[in-house]
Amino acid sequence: MLIVQKYGGTSVGSAERIKAVAQRIAKTASDRSVVVVVSAMGKTTDGLVKLANEISPNPNRREMDMLLSTGEQVTIALMSIALQELGVPAISLTGAQVGIVTEAEHSRARILQIKTQRIEEHLQQGEVVVVAGFQGISQTRHQEITTLGRGGSDTSAVALAAALQAEKCEIYTDVPGILTTDPRIVPEAQLMSEITCDEMLELASLGAKVLHPRAVEIARNYGMPLVVLSSWSDAPGTRVVSAIPKRRALQDLELTKPVDAIEYDTDQAGISMLRVPDRPGVAAQLFSGIAVQNIDVDLIIQSIHESNTNDIAFTVGKDTLKQATAVADAILPALGKNSDPSLGEPEVKTEERPIAKVSLVGAGMIGRPRVAAKMFETLAAAGINIVMISTSEVKVSCVVDAEDCEKAVNSLSQGFDVDVADISSSGDFLRNATQTRIATTESSEEVPPPVRAVALDMKQARLAVRQIPDRPGMAAKISGLLAEQNISLDMIIQSQRCHSVDGVLTRDIAFTVSQPEGETAYQILVNAAVEFGWGEVVLESAIAKVSVVGSGMIAHPGVAAKMFEALAANQINILMIATSEIKISCVVEEEDGVKALQAIHKAFGLSGNEVVKVPA
Ligand code: ADP
Ligand code: ASP
Ligand code: MG
Repeated sequence: MLIVQKYGGTSVGSAERIKAVAQRIAKTASDRSVVVVVSAMGKTTDGLVKLANEISPNPNRREMDMLLSTGEQVTIALMSIALQELGVPAISLTGAQVGIVTEAEHSRARILQIKTQRIEEHLQQGEVVVVAGFQGISQTRHQEITTLGRGGSDTSAVALAAALQAEKCEIYTDVPGILTTDPRIVPEAQLMSEITCDEMLELASLGAKVLHPRAVEIARNYGMPLVVLSSWSDAPGTRVVSAIPKRRALQDLELTKPVDAIEYDTDQAGISMLRVPDRPGVAAQLFSGIAVQNIDVDLIIQSIHESNTNDIAFTVGKDTLKQATAVADAILPALGKNSDPSLGEPEVKTEERPIAKVSLVGAGMIGRPRVAAKMFETLAAAGINIVMISTSEVKVSCVVDAEDCEKAVNSLSQGFDVDVADISSSGDFLRNATQTRIATTESSEEVPPPVRAVALDMKQARLAVRQIPDRPGMAAKISGLLAEQNISLDMIIQSQRCHSVDGVLTRDIAFTVSQPEGETAYQILVNAAVEFGWGEVVLESAIAKVSVVGSGMIAHPGVAAKMFEALAANQINILMIATSEIKISCVVEEEDGVKALQAIHKAFGLSGNEVVKVPA
């Protein structure tokens, strides 16, 4: 029996902590083989980054990997010494010594393969093997030291567990497990005994840094049992559960196909509210009205505002279109007239043509901006215009004309090499999701609430490009240009309103990127705007993204309304909205971020009676 345990920075932040953790490992090692993965001590990695930045604002990525990988090397040696001191035979190994083979991409390498021979030899001799997390070695002639990206030790641990076919992988950290939100912001956050990989993937990529999203991806792909727990207590923590996956080879561990499946839904109808006043409470009013009627809303998007007005667009099932339109019509009078009459008045617009939603699904999309770019390119090449776009980390959905649906599905399945068996209509998806939910909750005998957890991401920037011609290929162009620099678009939103510029219909496209990449993305787009004759490019860095996640929100009307109401009650204005089946994200002003998270967490009744104390 083999178990892989990973200890994060705080857990090994001092000699005392290392000794305490060694005691824990010794206990486990008394009746099992153990491989231990450790991070750098405390905030060592941050310190090293700061040091380099004192010398250069833009240090060479190869040298950064050389530098940052030293942090973990200190911990493995100390941990091994601590174990030996307790009489436990132990040996430390760097990523290179193990043979954690990665791509040659510095600072964000993906794991290709893990050689298990050396570790197995040591295990057979009864030694605990202590491996440096976060680092690997490239396969190239020069065998360069690489790192996996910040927070990547989680990924090292789960990958090792998969390669060694361990019984399970335990991630020890400074909180009792995965909580309903970050306890540093909401101390009453509650521990979850269980969460699905799908939910955790969304959460991790929406700002909950308790797990590296790629670690969750590997656990899901290989069906590796994963547990997150505190290294300060013996409490059982949180299990991250997944359906039993298809068998996968251990070759190209992290480079499995980026797209697993295609989903489509032809039962959709679109409604937009155009030119509604840009003030807190409008989205809340609209979606509360819709929730009261028990209408299930699928996608919701709200794009960038223009002179104090917003557009909100959403889709519902065809059979509820009339009802939903009536709700929207009914709130129009209460919105009042726009202060600037030249903008026109608020209006409800029902998409006259039937529409369909087509989605690409796959955890392998994480950190691979080429996937979304290629989706848009594929649709453009087939001459299909995209009406709406909404993204999550593991899914990109495009709304297109219903008559283009079949063509879209066919060209995407060819372009991404997706089997016919993995193409399904959304009805099937909903059924499967509900079944997984029931299957995973039966064991713990609790019905999950529609919202399981809330996340905050303060490290995003918003970009908007105005007046882009409304024709196929524009989203492809933008995402393609950014993908060349490896910049991922997080939320992508097309405005519903068209402007006529010199007789050409144009739309605005807005999206978020990670904050450090904002400036580069801005420059790329400013150049493109000149070249292609687009309008103004706007960069806004002072934003925050708050998100709710839960697979229980499928077929559970009213979740969006509740979230928007919580924001409105706190006078927080929503700048952008994007949804997927299991999450809703709102962009708000940066200064509202923490308040927004707290309000939403409270509104969904996620707080417990006990306060979580995070060790300093
Ligand atoms: P480690 O050094 O062990 O890898 P991290 O700092 O990377 O630890 O991740 C643990 C931290 O994640 C916690 O201290 C907590 O502040 C933060 N966090 C954010 N969201 C959540 C959440 N939903 N549940 C638990 N922790 C969270
Ligand atoms: N030490 C690395 C970091 O701080 C990796 C990790 O801790 O997971 O990002
Ligand atoms: Mg971490």
